[in-house]
Amino acid sequence: MKFTELKIGDEIKKNLENSGFKKPTDIQYKCIPSILVGEDVLAVAQTGTGKTAAFAIPIIDMIDKQKKNRRTDGIKCIVMCPTRELAKQIGSVFNKLSKHTDVVNFALYGGVEQDKQAAKIQKGIDVLIATPGRMFDLISQKIIDVSSVKYFVLDEADKMLKLGFYDDLIYIKKILKQRHQTMFFSATIDDEIKKLAYAQIKSDAIRIQISPKDPVSKNVKHGVLFVKQDEKRFYLLDFLVENPQAKIIIFARTKVRVERIKKFLDKNNIVCDVYHSGLAQTERERALENFRENKFNILVATDISARGIDIANVTNVINYDLPEIAENYVHRIGRTGRGTNKGEAISFCGEEEENLLKNIENYTGYQINKVILDEQTRKKAEISTLNDNKSLQKMILDTEKHISEKAKKRRK
Ligand code: ADP
Ligand code: MG
Repeated sequence: MKFTELKIGDEIKKNLENSGFKKPTDIQYKCIPSILVGEDVLAVAQTGTGKTAAFAIPIIDMIDKQKKNRRTDGIKCIVMCPTRELAKQIGSVFNKLSKHTDVVNFALYGGVEQDKQAAKIQKGIDVLIATPGRMFDLISQKIIDVSSVKYFVLDEADKMLKLGFYDDLIYIKKILKQRHQTMFFSATIDDEIKKLAYAQIKSDAIRIQISPKDPVSKNVKHGVLFVKQDEKRFYLLDFLVENPQAKIIIFARTKVRVERIKKFLDKNNIVCDVYHSGLAQTERERALENFRENKFNILVATDISARGIDIANVTNVINYDLPEIAENYVHRIGRTGRGTNKGEAISFCGEEEENLLKNIENYTGYQINKVILDEQTRKKAEISTLNDNKSLQKMILDTEKHISEKAKKRRK
């Protein structure tokens, strides 16, 4: 099937062509017609399979047609997602696909001044793409009026429903006055969340698209390397030196660990930047933009960038630490192998992380391939780590010796 066969406006078809989209992906093929006829959708498809356009295309088309028929004011669609950068990214997909149509989109998120956002909204928008915090702020200030909303989308739906956003969802569904269409999208969803989602969808009109058994994108080759905790640095450095052309996201467990990895890489003259929730919003955006534009090729990040972020040419993901939430494994490694690209992911599993690995394997439903290293590299890791530890120990001993000699001299 081609996009040209779909009953959508010519402008949108042109925009798809200009984006280099030749034919719909599976999830687009399944979702677009359903959404166009007004069905509610719970769509589960692997990372990088074009879920954003799967809801953006029909929504833009329906709103554009309504606007061309008669003047209609007010927000017609709300898309909710978990992070600011994701809101911005989804906003830019909507902008790209709605060029030369009458549809006006706006991405709303916290961490920046509210006044300009309010002014833009009050000028009139059709599609609001938002993170929950700022959106509910503006609803309570009566800057956002949701009474004309007809389409409601939750992207990264399982995360949104889990994150304590469930009450928010119930609240917003209550204040949506119109009969509206509800759409849930995610790469992962479990039975509990599915139940919550079902409760929010019209039972008479529901389409569910479930991806194949393996939740990991088929474009991602992934493996696990068993290491000693203090050898991780060696293996990271070794990988980066061996793969100078690679564009890599390195995931670590905490902000502090992310910053430590950056310091370590700085010391070894490897250019990289960090991305985590401890940064100012401008720094967060700058880091992601610069990475997107290849100003540097290594981004060290926390799970905040595990979901949704679409940077086409990321070749590798390294889990320096395993994720504590099993499904985040799928999302993290799904930052590579997007669209038609292929990608590779490797996870370092330290001695204390074997339980996390078990949880992940329970989640994926199979054992993750073990990466076997040659003896030489293993030996090198041992020696290098030993030397690292030795030089640290030597430093400590030297300092102690220095202090005790000083003390001796003083006694004399
Ligand atoms: P998901 O939300 O499923 O993880 P995205 O919507 O972020 O995936 O899309 C992943 C990538 O695939 C994006 O870079 C997007 O431009 C590209 N893409 C989406 N639809 C198509 C298509 N029909 N043909 C080619 N590329 C596409
Ligand atoms: Mg997505």
